Amino acid sequence: MQHVGQQVRLGGWVHRRRDLGGIVFIDLRDRAGIVQIAIGPTAPEDVRRVAGGLTSETVVEVAGQVTARPANMKNPELATGDVEVQATLLSVVGPAVTPAIPVARGKGDELPAEELRLKHRHLDLRRPEMQANLILSHRLLQRARRALSDLEFLEIETPILTKPTPEGARDYLVPSRVHPGEFYALPQSPQIYKQLLMVAGFDRYFQIARCFRDEDLRNDRQPEFTQIDLEASFVGMDDVLGYVEAVLVALWDEGGHRIARPFPRIAWRDALEHYGTDKPDLRYDLSIADWTAHVKPLGVPFFQAALRDGARVRGLAVKGGGALSRKDADELAETAKQLGGAGLAWVKRQGEQISGSVGKHFTPDALAALGVGDGDAALMTVGPDRVTSPVLDRVRLGVIQRLRTQPKRAHAFTWVVDFPLFEPDPETGKPVFAHHPFTSPHPDDLARLDSDPFSCRALHYDAVYNGNELGSGSIRITDAAVQRRVFAHLGLSPEEADARFGFLLTGLQAGAPPHGGFAIGFDRVVMLLAGAGSLRDVIAFPKTTAARALFEGAPAPANPADLATLHIEVKR
Ligand code: ASP
Repeated sequence: MQHVGQQVRLGGWVHRRRDLGGIVFIDLRDRAGIVQIAIGPTAPEDVRRVAGGLTSETVVEVAGQVTARPANMKNPELATGDVEVQATLLSVVGPAVTPAIPVARGKGDELPAEELRLKHRHLDLRRPEMQANLILSHRLLQRARRALSDLEFLEIETPILTKPTPEGARDYLVPSRVHPGEFYALPQSPQIYKQLLMVAGFDRYFQIARCFRDEDLRNDRQPEFTQIDLEASFVGMDDVLGYVEAVLVALWDEGGHRIARPFPRIAWRDALEHYGTDKPDLRYDLSIADWTAHVKPLGVPFFQAALRDGARVRGLAVKGGGALSRKDADELAETAKQLGGAGLAWVKRQGEQISGSVGKHFTPDALAALGVGDGDAALMTVGPDRVTSPVLDRVRLGVIQRLRTQPKRAHAFTWVVDFPLFEPDPETGKPVFAHHPFTSPHPDDLARLDSDPFSCRALHYDAVYNGNELGSGSIRITDAAVQRRVFAHLGLSPEEADARFGFLLTGLQAGAPPHGGFAIGFDRVVMLLAGAGSLRDVIAFPKTTAARALFEGAPAPANPADLATLHIEVKR
């Protein structure tokens, strides 16, 4: 309203046009929002002529006076809904063909299919929701830069054409034209470079780093993505967690939320024991319990064979779980089976009545011992932990969703610490690194590195928020001899270790300060703070789940002459 009476010049896109006979209204859109342009009977003749022919998404320039709308014409849903601009000049500066997908949507109109949106991304990005997401992304980036700069971190760029940096994915390779048969790798992360920056004495580094990982894409991954990557010297885990908390608190503040720190910590083993996952959603208190000792004496046939093999019965005592229907229980049991589990046994108590698939084996007292009272339910399964953990994780989230459980807290940040250093490769059983091979073994476990590698913990930590992994990091190995031992466990000969990581080993021998760092998955943070449903909604030009860029059409076959210059022959 403070602009009423002013003469303004505006440029933007025709969002909508309404022709009411004597008067034409145009909703003019730019990145700041929408303003109504009115072209009434007293407007100049040429303005009325141009307005009469305007089609959606045409770019126009307008000049005119801001006036207050009559009381009955105000639009409370628009930031500019109290005013309009009476156009005195109107010209088309960017004619537009009929848009392939609509930009303006009426209430309740569905979005076009995502494939179409990605194919016509220039139009999709015009939608006010997408503009808001990318504007938020910009603000968060600036805020992260400021927070880290205030902590005296230096922003330093590292190369995109590099040597492989293992983070557990495949590399994207780039052929060298001048060195036939040789390849650069695109960085899976700036990991080795940031460690070398510590060796070089920069002390605190950060980078808004683009990373590339060629993995089989899941719904919430992108082959290229952005991390807020940081590293610091002369620090221990507490220092690094403190820096990352400062950045996350600043980012959430930018998103309009006040977050308390320090964040609680949970050991990896406890996270799996109580929540079945290393990404627990701690907005809800529901947790998994070991019921083996209680259930064994009851002689329930469903559990007997597995119990004889030494498996544990683990379950969830669900408050108010009496409200779960038979159908709910069957569907949860089906999920359990799909994950390779024995299925799900369940018991419900309503007053003195006990029902459910194994209900006849339980008395009210037996249920009370599990923490299951009147109106509650017990859901349980049996088997090796590696199967029951993911099953109970899914069942826990499924129950929360079905019962529409109110979260105890809106923002549940937690650190997961004490990860194992190695995991068994699911196929060969051999050790593979749980994080990346530069992560320091826990000093208390170092003596067992050779004799019992799987029992070694790592100085590795993850940040988890409402069940989402926001990022991970570690204190690094700074002793070249220990680094060589870890490489050996991963099956690398000393020669291979030198060929692949010689530049790091050389650095570590040259006087390496203790150091550690972290990387925050920036796109995921934006997605969560924007309340967007997918990473693709916060990245301007994302790839599909099949790693294709639909708008620009990549990847695409290369022309034979280019391949020849690169000394490459494609086998089909
Ligand atoms: N390089 C790690 C990653 O990209 C982060 C870190 O360890 O600092 O996941």
